[in-house]
Amino acid sequence: MVELRDPQPLRWIEEPSGQPITRCFQCYKCSSGCPVAGAMDILPHQIVRFVHLGLEEELLKCRAIWLCTACHTCKARCPNGIDISAINDTLKAAVLARGLRPALPAVADFHRQFLASVEKHGRVHELGMMVAYKLKTGNYLQDVPLGMRMLARGKFKLLPDPIRGQKEVRTLFHRARGEQR
Ligand code: SF4
Ligand code: SF4
Repeated sequence: MVELRDPQPLRWIEEPSGQPITRCFQCYKCSSGCPVAGAMDILPHQIVRFVHLGLEEELLKCRAIWLCTACHTCKARCPNGIDISAINDTLKAAVLARGLRPALPAVADFHRQFLASVEKHGRVHELGMMVAYKLKTGNYLQDVPLGMRMLARGKFKLLPDPIRGQKEVRTLFHRARGEQR
């Protein structure tokens, strides 16, 4: 167990993330397997250590939480089953809830458009989500050749497919926001 300088910051991250953060003994297995570690400013094992130390400001302004692809490799490798993507999700939600500027705003915009599409259609409608994302970021030409190839191969549907349970998915979003419907 790690001796905590100030346990308060740990609790606001540990409880919503559902991760046994105090079990981490800094073995580095998560960081050595993380596919995007090379681009991160704080490595996965360091994120956990920063939580231990209560380095809240550093965590909320780092790029690493936005670069995490939620591949769960860290969880599979961790001897204590710690899922660092869940910690990163908690930190990202805190950045947005506090009105702070995300270290990678385009990634934050992508997250928002992805979730908006899932809420609206029950699952993501890739073409609609990408159009909304481009309109939001003004990054119109990036990825156009790739998008055209995907469209030609039928990877993008022009219209969203309706799914069963669309209403239930919306209800989940309303509940997560604490809205009464
Ligand atoms: S693999 Fe698990 S125990 Fe090891 S440093 Fe990463 S989070 Fe900590
Ligand atoms: S879930 Fe995130 S932190 Fe964990 S290995 Fe994958 S990219 Fe790295």
